[in-house]
Amino acid sequence: MGAQCSHLDQVRDVEPRTPQGCEECLETGDSWVHLRLCLSCGHVGCCDNSKNKHGTKHFRSTGHPVMRSFEPGEDWGWCFVDELFLEPAPRP
Ligand SMILES: [Zn+2]
Ligand SMILES: [Zn+2]
Ligand SMILES: [Zn+2]
Repeated sequence: MGAQCSHLDQVRDVEPRTPQGCEECLETGDSWVHLRLCLSCGHVGCCDNSKNKHGTKHFRSTGHPVMRSFEPGEDWGWCFVDELFLEPAPRP
C-alpha cells in the first residue's frame, strides 16, 4: 500500500472563482506560468514555477489542503499537507 491522502473529505464540487486566471495576479496585473484550482473553495492560483506562487500561498493562508491542475487536459492533484501527488485528481 502506498501513502494515502487523508484530506479527501475536504474536496468539494467547486466552481472556479476566476476561470480566466490567477485571482491575485489578475488583480495586480501580473502573469503566471500554470494554474492550480483549490478543491475546497474554488480559488484559482498560480503554480510554484510562477513568480508569485499564489496557489501555495493560498494553502498557507487558508489551510485548504488539496488542489488540482487547472490546465486543459491535465488531470492530477496535489495534497500540500501530505505532499502527495494524486492522479487522477480527486473528486467529491
Ligand atoms: Zn492529504
Ligand atoms: Zn498568481
Ligand atoms: Zn481554497
